[in-house]
Amino acid sequence: MTNGPVVPTRAAVQARHPISDVRFDEAGLLGSWQRVNADQTIPHCIAQLEQSGALGNLWRLRDRAIARRPPRFSDSDLYKTLEACGWADTAPEFVTASTDLLACVQEPDGYLNSWVQGGDADRFTDFAHGHEMYCAGHLIQAGIADARTTGDTRLLGIGRRFADLLCELFGERKRDIVPGHPEVETALVELYRQTGAGRYLELAKRFIDLRGRGLLDTTVTPAEYFQDHRPVRDTTSITGHAVRATYLAAGATDVAVETGDVGLLAVMERLWADMATTKTYLTGGIGSRQDGEAFGDAYELPPDRAYCETCAGIASIMWSWRLLLATGKACYADLIERTLLNCLAAATSPDGRAYFYVNPLQVRSAGFAAPGPPVRREPWHGCACCPPNIARLRAALHHYVATFDGSGVQVHQYFAGTLRHDGIRLVLDTRYPWDGTVTFAVRDTPPSAWTLTLRVPAWCAAATVRVNGAPLPATPTQGQLAIDRIWHVGDTVELVLDMPPRITRPHPRVDAVRGCVAVERGPLVYCLEEVDHAARPFEDIVLDTAGPARTVERPDLLGGTTLLALRGRLNADPIDITAVPYFQWANREAGAMRVWIPA
Ligand SMILES: [Zn+2]
Repeated sequence: MTNGPVVPTRAAVQARHPISDVRFDEAGLLGSWQRVNADQTIPHCIAQLEQSGALGNLWRLRDRAIARRPPRFSDSDLYKTLEACGWADTAPEFVTASTDLLACVQEPDGYLNSWVQGGDADRFTDFAHGHEMYCAGHLIQAGIADARTTGDTRLLGIGRRFADLLCELFGERKRDIVPGHPEVETALVELYRQTGAGRYLELAKRFIDLRGRGLLDTTVTPAEYFQDHRPVRDTTSITGHAVRATYLAAGATDVAVETGDVGLLAVMERLWADMATTKTYLTGGIGSRQDGEAFGDAYELPPDRAYCETCAGIASIMWSWRLLLATGKACYADLIERTLLNCLAAATSPDGRAYFYVNPLQVRSAGFAAPGPPVRREPWHGCACCPPNIARLRAALHHYVATFDGSGVQVHQYFAGTLRHDGIRLVLDTRYPWDGTVTFAVRDTPPSAWTLTLRVPAWCAAATVRVNGAPLPATPTQGQLAIDRIWHVGDTVELVLDMPPRITRPHPRVDAVRGCVAVERGPLVYCLEEVDHAARPFEDIVLDTAGPARTVERPDLLGGTTLLALRGRLNADPIDITAVPYFQWANREAGAMRVWIPA
């Protein structure tokens, strides 16, 4: 089994190490996503790369009759798709053909960027908005995915040659610059992990150290937009463009753990806490401001004007995973789950071929006239950063669920499938997130004692656990339940996470949703859709928070779902209310939707 996207060295500051040998059953939710991703999303992305001109921009370097198509960072659409192919171990012909093309157009010194080579800009003259190193980072990550999965290092070699050029130009005692769109930092650290060459880690560290010194041109956007307003180590609040901020944070966390910089790691933990407690939506979405695709002030979380770019949710998961490995804390897995099963799950259509770029928590009945909030997922976007980003995350998802340390194995996300590590084989059976029962069957085990650690999510008020049918005291410590014993083949563990429907009240400082509540069940955030309600105006529906809340399993609806039957009123009239999982919204007749409901 191959290594995943994040493999810290043994010298790194790490509480946990990723387990790579995980397979999802296709019957489970995560497994079904990976199947749709491989069968639908990745082929769809490949076709769209042709149609959008992203591939043409590279072919154009050999044939100038081909028209140039924006945006300037279209190469990254290809690279993210290649990375998805790597983790999914699919489309080898496409990977080979793309690698041939890239090898052909790469400059002798390693430079590779279709916008610049196509004559639309000069090399390394616009660090603020040029995206040259952003694209380089995605190229490097694609090569790492391909090398780790197939063993073929040709694509990795192309990225490495570019990285060598970056080291030569911008390494120690060379020109001081930082990239306007962070991404290459985390790619360079992973390249160091993959190759053992310290110069890549040093360059990533330099890009972190040099940030906040005013090196970026602020003519078009303020320094805060690309996190150049203050040194990373002096940052106390997450600000600016949400994708940039979280990619940078992921890279800074990588640098911190690989250089043993526990001070920087502590800064990242504080920054994450600021994000998670004051700037994250209930769905896990981040970046509330449309203007600048940016984080707002603390508690500035309007549901209707929520930007919540899909890529920002992805970046949040990537950052949280790095902090989880570094610290072992369950809070990072909690946010990964919330973001993955709500914001990100909603961003993709059930058929895997249409996507939201922004993910609001409310669309009004009158909100369908353009320009307005998105009410339909689109097969592609003019700025197509999100679809291939979804593809690469979903392809690698099995690398984000479990870890090990000296004591044993930790399971952070629940899935149906098989996990193997060092003589241990566990088979997980569950209908999660529809049901809170997860069973673990021990199929192989070493003879000595080891600890199975299970996350008890922060949303779960009551968890029970049985080993071979006998109840164990189940008091989690900081969100984790450790079962230490000598295991035998045939042992079973049953974890039951109680998941009754629950009412969630917003923080009082989130002014935009005062007087409203949300309904959740287990890890899923629910919403109301206009299509389920005859009562008009939809916006005036009020939920009875003391009323009954009944689960209704509907295998026939939305590809299988569990609805919540609630009670409420419209004016003085009592009405039935139906809530659907937020991630399944906008899959029927177009209409209004809201997560926060007047109460
Ligand atoms: Zn995006």
